Amino acid sequence: MAKETREFQAETRELLDLMINSIYTNKEIFLRELISNASDAIDKVHFVSLTNSELLGEDTEYQIFLIPDKNTHTLTISDNGIGMNREEVIENIGTIAKSGTKAFLEQLKNSKEEGSIDENLIGQFGVGFYAAFMVADKVTLITKRAGETEATRWESAGDGSYSVEEAQKEARGTSITLTLKEEFYKEGAELDLTDTYAIQNLVKKYSDYVRYPIKMNFVVEETPKDDEGNPIKDAEKIKKNELRTLNSMTPLWTKNKSELKDEDYNEFFKQEFHEWEAPMEVFHTKAEGNVTYTALLGIPGHAPFNLYHTNYEPGISLYSRHVFIMDKCKDLLPDYLGFIKGLVDSPDFSLNISRELLQQSAELKTIGRAIEKNILKTLERNLKNKREDYEKFWNEYGKSIKIGIYNSMYSGFDTVDKLKNLLLFKTSKEGKLASLKEYVERMPESQKQIYYATAKDEATIEKLPQMELLRDKNIEVLYLLDPVDEFAIETIREYEGKTFHSISRGDLDLGDEESKEAQKETEEIAKTNDDLIKDIKEVLGSKVAEVKISGRLKSSAVCLVADEAGPSLSMEQTFAEMNNPMFKARRILEINPHHDLFGKLKSVYTEGKDSQDFKDYCDLLYTQALIIEGILPENPVDFANKIAKLMAK
Ligand code: ADP
Repeated sequence: MAKETREFQAETRELLDLMINSIYTNKEIFLRELISNASDAIDKVHFVSLTNSELLGEDTEYQIFLIPDKNTHTLTISDNGIGMNREEVIENIGTIAKSGTKAFLEQLKNSKEEGSIDENLIGQFGVGFYAAFMVADKVTLITKRAGETEATRWESAGDGSYSVEEAQKEARGTSITLTLKEEFYKEGAELDLTDTYAIQNLVKKYSDYVRYPIKMNFVVEETPKDDEGNPIKDAEKIKKNELRTLNSMTPLWTKNKSELKDEDYNEFFKQEFHEWEAPMEVFHTKAEGNVTYTALLGIPGHAPFNLYHTNYEPGISLYSRHVFIMDKCKDLLPDYLGFIKGLVDSPDFSLNISRELLQQSAELKTIGRAIEKNILKTLERNLKNKREDYEKFWNEYGKSIKIGIYNSMYSGFDTVDKLKNLLLFKTSKEGKLASLKEYVERMPESQKQIYYATAKDEATIEKLPQMELLRDKNIEVLYLLDPVDEFAIETIREYEGKTFHSISRGDLDLGDEESKEAQKETEEIAKTNDDLIKDIKEVLGSKVAEVKISGRLKSSAVCLVADEAGPSLSMEQTFAEMNNPMFKARRILEINPHHDLFGKLKSVYTEGKDSQDFKDYCDLLYTQALIIEGILPENPVDFANKIAKLMAK
């Protein structure tokens, strides 16, 4: 096929621009990215060859070559992996298929404007190949897909377009030649990428345990020897090529924990899982017995940007006797641990088993359960003993745990018991995070329920009329600030025999003597105002299920609560946002009988219960209560007109 020149997709171009204009200070990592791609490509060809023995032909020795060239100022990275055909080159290299790219660019630009670039961002978005443009003016890729005859040449100067054309290449695999920027080959360069020793150092540093040999030719000088093998004095040295393997290739997880340092683990996660920062927790376990396995897993320092999107793929790789079987295995761990990255190596996994069968295998399930238990135990231990670390974990991944609890209706209710002790919520006590256990331990004897409030932020909760009485009585309230929180709490139902109670739902029975008195008083007032209450309900019609005299309000005139049964107001809003408007809360309007407004309402009512004024008052009270809950009035113009009319009086 003829040579064609194509434009990069807009997002790719933007990303290239950022790369070239050095968004990332540590440019040397480009090599890790390219080697990592090469190693992935070899994994892939190996995997396919398991069921297609002809595929490899004579080329069975997997390897990656690095070829620096001082004359042409180039560095070539070459592999005998799976390679790509023309369509794949265009698909994989010409576009960034990842849906999060746009969001990524936004974040990147923002952080650039603020003057610092968050380097962790790049890795999260898997833009590894483009890192080549940080050190190269031009990138040339020649590749041949295993089993196919035609090769493809792709080239770009990172200037908005690239070319693709047919090429000649004998062996399968990919060869990427970087035409280096001057600063990476000139005399006295800080990092000379045409220098074999500089490259050797980079490989040692970043890619030592890549499981395929990374080879490079070194030119070594030797003193000639005489017939007896002794060096000839004063003879001119001879230059010789010597092919060396740069990496040790020992899979890190097979080593003993005691041999390994934090840095080893950190580099491993960066290399293997395209992480850009150290994991916040590492689990390195070996088990023998019922099932035999080694697991090396970690919790990434930050949650991936798309963790809660449907396109997120959990990242556990499986190995059998150190040979890669598959990546992104999603059936090993439960969904709520989807943020865990790492690998499991077990001789109990069969190499030739299909992906589908493996995912259903009993061994996989047994290993998964053991690992899950271990992770949860560590998290609980951290909550107890390493509070600061745990809170950092919670801020990144707490949502996963809460979703896990909510989803237990599908995954089995034992999940609730496994996870409930891991929960943390801000509370009205000093705005700090507390576990349910801590909350319950602090409860006064008379308190029978665990109280919670929902809103989008703390400030809104603190201003809720429903908070007044609880604050007055110094009762601690859990703050549920994420829509998923209330769903999780509703799923748990009770903790150590204490039920959960939303301060915006049902009656508020605080259980103490004083409250009982107040309750009686409220009932009295309700009785004497029975007609008024009924007529307010009539005016409001189906907007509310009930109108009540409130025992919980101190300084506010009204509030809206939901019935005990059925969803709360905030759940109703969440459902509506998910286009599920069927789930409606049963709204109860509570009126504060001690507020001046109540007196006024009564007098307007006595003057004429069918008057427009009374109707307007009822309507305004209801709309106020809605607004306090963060719900917009159905008819804002009508609301404003009624207020204007009242103000003009
Ligand atoms: P990522 O590796 O995170 O997917 P990259 O931009 O590094 O992102 O690479 C994009 C894609 O290009 C890879 O997923 C792979 O399909 C393909 N690719 C890159 N390098 C190679 C290579 N050496 N051999 C075969 N395919 C490659």
